[in-house]
Amino acid sequence: DSEKIIKNLEILLKHHGQDENVKVVKTGCFGFCGQGPIVKIEPDNVFYVKVGPKDAKDIVEMHIMKNEQVDRILYEDPKTGEKIHEHKDMSFYAKQHRIALRNCGEIDPEDISDYLANKGYEALKKALKQLSRDEVIDTIKKSGLRGRGGGGFPTGLKWEITKNSRDGEQKYVICNADEGDPGAFMDRSILEGDAHSVIEAMAIGGYAMGAQNGVVYIRAEYPLAINRLKIALNQAREKGFLGKDIFGSGFNFDIEIRYGAGAFVCGEETALIHSVEGSRGEPTVKPPYPSECGLNGQPTCVNNVETFANIPPIILNGSEWFASIGTEKSKGTKVFALAGKINNIGLVEVPMGTTLREIVYEIGGGIMDGHKFKAVQTGGPSGGVITEADLDTPIDYESLKEIGSMMGSGGMIVMDENDCMVNIAKFYLDFTQDESCGKCTPCRVGTKRMYEILDRITKGKGVPEDLDNLVQIGNMIKDSALCGLGQTAPNPVLSTLKYFRDEYEDHINKKY
Ligand code: SF4
Repeated sequence: DSEKIIKNLEILLKHHGQDENVKVVKTGCFGFCGQGPIVKIEPDNVFYVKVGPKDAKDIVEMHIMKNEQVDRILYEDPKTGEKIHEHKDMSFYAKQHRIALRNCGEIDPEDISDYLANKGYEALKKALKQLSRDEVIDTIKKSGLRGRGGGGFPTGLKWEITKNSRDGEQKYVICNADEGDPGAFMDRSILEGDAHSVIEAMAIGGYAMGAQNGVVYIRAEYPLAINRLKIALNQAREKGFLGKDIFGSGFNFDIEIRYGAGAFVCGEETALIHSVEGSRGEPTVKPPYPSECGLNGQPTCVNNVETFANIPPIILNGSEWFASIGTEKSKGTKVFALAGKINNIGLVEVPMGTTLREIVYEIGGGIMDGHKFKAVQTGGPSGGVITEADLDTPIDYESLKEIGSMMGSGGMIVMDENDCMVNIAKFYLDFTQDESCGKCTPCRVGTKRMYEILDRITKGKGVPEDLDNLVQIGNMIKDSALCGLGQTAPNPVLSTLKYFRDEYEDHINKKY
């Protein structure tokens, strides 16, 4: 429908002779996915949701032709029941703090002048003209930014290690855009809505670490993100933000795109690097770490899309600004893909320290159809379930681990009283056993055996010993698998067994 809405708006503007005065801009995602298509009117600051092609007529009549006979209020807040149409008044947006998503939905991602009008490439200019390489790294270190891909490793420290590793030699900056968690789409959304912010950040990283080559490793299933990234790369080259002697500083940097074929394991940095080299995407033992021996055997820094999107504002606003947001050990914000049995499905960016209850009930608008909350899964197939008892936990890397889950890349799936937790665990394990690269036995064989047990239980053929076997095999895989995929694969089973063992027992006792 979005294409039809745009076409209708353009036809109507032409009909009224307003096509020279009013621009229809196709932006990236606003985040409020469950309410799309969305049309935002500027400078009126009115935000329409669930717009259809026929609504174009009313929108043009009301906002462009100023016909006061037309009045449409399209959004009823599920939390307050209030009828509102201003973006800032919606509970979905009220508690959000958009740093990584700052330009998504606000600019035309295919027009570099929109990005430039929003301080685009000023951070790169500042880094190259005013800061030494060490000062850039120091700013990122002091900001407290940690990797948003799941690991939470301090970004500034990673940059420093890469800089100090064989300085003066060929180095690489890689952007991991191989987002593979079921339900997570924040990286895709950033590249579709604001690819220049990632390009700018990679160039800043290249300068700080002494790398002249960047690679964006992106899954081939993201055609719109790829297309917009290509457009942005060409525009950045034309304007001299990539290429030789950027801002007259003598610094050279360019970026190429490499495509992933959708293997979840290629999100792991050593597997990703092997895939970029044209080899099979399998992890290797660390050390050596990529910062010492990465792409083509050279020092390489891999950060994910969301991590990079935070870099330009940190350079422009300073480390203290960023460090003032969030908790003691987790600074800044985190983007979550909120999905499942929730009223407001979409992409949300909140300060670290926001509670799960605030996300589920205030931003998410509560559970669909008035049902009862049961659990929320964070961290996708690597994470665990969080129950009502822990809903007031402030979100950060450490606290989520303490309650048996993890941040992961930011998938957040809400379940209600009708969801069977054994089936949920089976769904995730089916995914991980299928995505296991097969290199090490605990993961290759162990996840298969766990899946067989779960399948048996859900088919009413389980026996009581199955539960202890699941725990034993799960712990063995966690302790002995080679990479993060295997080490975390049992988490959904172990955490549902911990909190919802009765549901497993009911399946075994044929109460389902
Ligand atoms: Fe491959 Fe799994 Fe071993 Fe990782 S843990 S190397 S995905 S088999």
